[in-house]
Amino acid sequence: MSTIGKKSPVFPFFFLFLCGLSLTISVFAQQTDNLYVSSFHQVPEMTPQFPLKTAAMIYSDSLVALALENIRRFPTACSIKDDILKAANRMLTFTDDELEVLMADARVPRGFDLCAKGCPVHGDSVFKVGGFYPRIIDMQHPFQVRCPIDGQVFPSNDYAGYYQSGFKDKIDRNVEYTDDGWGWIAPDGERYWFVAYANHWLWYDYLLPGMLNLARAYLLTDDNRYAAKVAFMLYRLASVYPSMNHEDQSRYGLMSKSHGGCYPGKLVNHIWETNVIDWAAEAYDIVWKTVDADTSLQKRAGKTGEELRAFIEANLLEDGLDALDTEKIKGNYGTHQRAMITVQLVRQYAGIEEALHKILYEPSSVNLQNGVKYTLYNNIFRDGQPWESPGYNAGWLHSFMQIEEKLPADYKELYASFRFRKIF
Ligand SMILES: [Zn+2]
Repeated sequence: MSTIGKKSPVFPFFFLFLCGLSLTISVFAQQTDNLYVSSFHQVPEMTPQFPLKTAAMIYSDSLVALALENIRRFPTACSIKDDILKAANRMLTFTDDELEVLMADARVPRGFDLCAKGCPVHGDSVFKVGGFYPRIIDMQHPFQVRCPIDGQVFPSNDYAGYYQSGFKDKIDRNVEYTDDGWGWIAPDGERYWFVAYANHWLWYDYLLPGMLNLARAYLLTDDNRYAAKVAFMLYRLASVYPSMNHEDQSRYGLMSKSHGGCYPGKLVNHIWETNVIDWAAEAYDIVWKTVDADTSLQKRAGKTGEELRAFIEANLLEDGLDALDTEKIKGNYGTHQRAMITVQLVRQYAGIEEALHKILYEPSSVNLQNGVKYTLYNNIFRDGQPWESPGYNAGWLHSFMQIEEKLPADYKELYASFRFRKIF
């Protein structure tokens, strides 16, 4: 078992993300290369199944005013705003064309790990030097990883050029570490997923948190440059999101399949995908009202403002809700519920009352999806401990607090519950 904590954007009243998320990591032996890459399936564009949203649902004007007041009064809040702007400004240095390449479509595989053996040159020393996820990623050099020991770059071939040619360019096989996206296979049969690893962490550590920071920067400054960049990124994400299918397009998915298992997800694995859809939904809730005036994006996409909003709401938010229903998005206890609340709130007319009832009260055939109130009495012991290890149990508390923050006012009851207070 391994607990994975990743850095996240922060803000005093913003919901906290990603602390204590965890995955069960199994080390697969790869003595023989028996992975099967199935042919790519492009999911057709979808149209909205519900009326388009009509209001911002997460940050009210009074909440934004409170944030600005806190920034004016408290140095800590001010430094958090500075961090958000710094991250957002870094994203502004990329053109839309560059971001379109970085936000690769579903044909480029993902891998949260690169290889159990470490580096082809330095072996497992990379873990001692660089930690659990040791390779260095750079937005200026997509689809490449750099070794933390000597700085060597992998793969040796130009994958970005190959991708941008629509996979038509010939792959340079005359270099040592060639990766066509599905990994370089070493003489001993071990597969090293350079491109997939770079792609995964580019999305998960840079692009998606970057998009959220841009949205929050717009919330705090009203600067349309931020909103326009977010709107473009949301449009791009909605263009590639429906075809994202982790079980067929990732290192872990293929390895699980080769052992008769299944490891679902969308852009990333089903556990971390709770963050992907949460961040994306929040970003859309902040900028959706700017889309109708964004003539630049409308021209680029060949869609009116309303058509753009419909496109994002159907192909990102509704597709996310479908993935939550079909367990392609399913996180550790509480993260699933938190993501579902965010997406339902933001999509606004997709059946939020019914969803909230399910999230709060209904038991499920899957323990991790039991309703929150049900869980307080059925999955938590009398001393306040859930049934996982101490580290994972702390994650429950964290998620409960995020859920309470996100719930509409009429549903906020958790802090009044003695069963909930016992968890602290
Ligand atoms: Zn190395």
